[in-house]
Amino acid sequence: KIGLAADELQFNAFAVGGFVRDLLLKKNNLDLDIVIEGDGIQFAKNLARKLQGRIKTHERFGTAMIMLPDGTKIDVATARLEYYEYPAALPTVELSSIKLDLYRRDFTINAMAIQLNPEHFGTLIDFFNCQNDLNQRSIKVLHNLSFVEDPSRIFRAIRFEARMAFEIAPHTRRLMHNAVSMQLFGKTDDPRFFSELKQILSEEDPVPAIRRLAEFNLFPFLWPELKPHLKVDRRFLHILHQAQRAISWFRLLYLDEPCHNWMVYLLAIMSRSPDEVLTAFCSRFQIPQKIADRLIWQKTHAEKTANLLSRREIIANSEIYWLLKELSIEGLLYLMALARKNQVKKAASNYVTALRYIRTDLTGDDLMALGYRPGPEFKMILNDLLDARLDDRVHNREEEIALLHR
Ligand code: ATP
Repeated sequence: KIGLAADELQFNAFAVGGFVRDLLLKKNNLDLDIVIEGDGIQFAKNLARKLQGRIKTHERFGTAMIMLPDGTKIDVATARLEYYEYPAALPTVELSSIKLDLYRRDFTINAMAIQLNPEHFGTLIDFFNCQNDLNQRSIKVLHNLSFVEDPSRIFRAIRFEARMAFEIAPHTRRLMHNAVSMQLFGKTDDPRFFSELKQILSEEDPVPAIRRLAEFNLFPFLWPELKPHLKVDRRFLHILHQAQRAISWFRLLYLDEPCHNWMVYLLAIMSRSPDEVLTAFCSRFQIPQKIADRLIWQKTHAEKTANLLSRREIIANSEIYWLLKELSIEGLLYLMALARKNQVKKAASNYVTALRYIRTDLTGDDLMALGYRPGPEFKMILNDLLDARLDDRVHNREEEIALLHR
């Protein structure tokens, strides 16, 4: 259907980028990126109509996003010759739009296309010997100025290398080192940096990539405030591994409950620093205020609570409940990662697996029916009932009523 929608308008349509890479690697990738030689928006409207999808367009960039009823996402872009001024002074006339589009991409492994028009359906377009790099599991830029053009690609190289167990090619590695030493990162207001870092911290196992960030000397850029103890030392790695264990544990138990893993890792990275370091990080990378506030609150609260719990051998369920209640899943997992004593980890896991679900049988409506009136005391009664329930002093509605009358 995609090819037909393009043929109708006499445009060439190509699948590009990560989709092609993963297809050749026989990996699943549900996000389809399409490049159109022609008017991408007109094509996207035509395709959305055919597939009964919803469409969002960005006229200025000639891009569109189609959401299909089954949740599949299709990104459409327009390949345009005049898109960029090229540093390498290429004779642009010789380049087809798709060739230039692919040349502008980050790495060769992401710079292949597959034609979708029916007549040539499935033809692999590979101008830069990309398939060879993919087979060699090698990450290479397309030209020497790639990182100058967009330093966020450094993060992408590290992410792909770690995720797919590829290797950044020696020349590309040199260009990365050069870019870092040229301090191309001076301009930190580029939201792409944080977005790429977030993606690294969202990977299944971000630890190798974090080590790589340190090897490429990116820590002073990411968190300059951490300078005095910047090293990726044993304790630093230990807490990252603890974060990873906590996340895997949670994933196994609660497959469907959303958790922003990157937040847990970011908190773990910042665990040995005061709140101000996290605050500075958030403002430098322009993290939306709401998320920044949430991160900082979780950090403070989780650390305080871990400290408190570590000083108590025996602690009632009700106390654990009220101490941990305000923490988000990310905060709870961070607390587990921080915990040096078993009792702290136990308390947190008890809260996550059991205590947070416990409810009283009696509700506010029941209390009203029994003659109580809403107000501060009313809330206290409900909380007392919940405490009794958490601490196993009552087990059902009758026992709760009996407790009320005591
Ligand atoms: P993932 O599987 O992580 O989504 P992806 O390759 O699909 O990987 P995206 O960030 O979705 O990554 O980008 C889609 C495509 O856009 C890439 O394959 C690449 O060709 C191109 N691209 C993305 N970011 C850049 C960039 N900073 N510079 C050049 N090309 C980029």
